[in-house]
Amino acid sequence: MAAQSIGRRGFILILSSPSGAGKTTLTRAVAGDPSWGLDLSISVTTRQRRPSEIDGKHYTFIDREAFETLRSRDDLLEWAEVHGNFYGTPRRPVERVLAAGRDMIFDIDYQGTRQVRAKLSDDVVTIFILPPSMAELRSRLERRAEDSPATIEKRLANARMEIQRWNEYDYVLVNDDLDEAFRSLQGILTAERLKRSRRTGLNDFVEGLLSEIGET
Ligand code: 5GP
Repeated sequence: MAAQSIGRRGFILILSSPSGAGKTTLTRAVAGDPSWGLDLSISVTTRQRRPSEIDGKHYTFIDREAFETLRSRDDLLEWAEVHGNFYGTPRRPVERVLAAGRDMIFDIDYQGTRQVRAKLSDDVVTIFILPPSMAELRSRLERRAEDSPATIEKRLANARMEIQRWNEYDYVLVNDDLDEAFRSLQGILTAERLKRSRRTGLNDFVEGLLSEIGET
């Protein structure tokens, strides 16, 4: 068996941060480039679509009633109310990706992270992204210019509360330089993919090595 073909279990990589810290930029760039080997989980939400967003690509936009139906059928792996809207992760795509031994990236908040960790703890890796300063966070939200001033104020108020969840995460990145953030993300992925506990084929590989020794 070649070392590269040693099987492993897939995992869920969760990125959380207050709005404007850069998490969505990171997640979308990574999900759009197949060389990262990460499938993006597409959440459902009751929030209004922003002009730049595509239904079914960035989110699946649904009404409150459809959300309630998904939730009551247990079709959501996790869900939460964030900034007055409902968001949830459809369960089935996640199960399919993990069963195939691939990894998936989630852009969800700390409430959802807790639920996913409670259900799939060994198969979850969590990263919290902090802005370099609150002034930078505000200016990113304003530059994005996709939300009303009232929404921006609400998001900033929530940011203070969300930032306090940083210590529930495995890794913390301060996003003052996007290239650096990508490099850190790559480092985390590489290490997590090499973790012994996920590498189901290691036993057989080592057995093979030992039997070779016996033959020489
Ligand atoms: P936005 O409205 O800016 O796209 O997202 C607002 C917040 O909701 C972000 O913190 C984002 O990570 C979170 N979020 C997006 N999708 C989900 C989801 O499916 N579940 C949970 N728990 N949070 C989500």
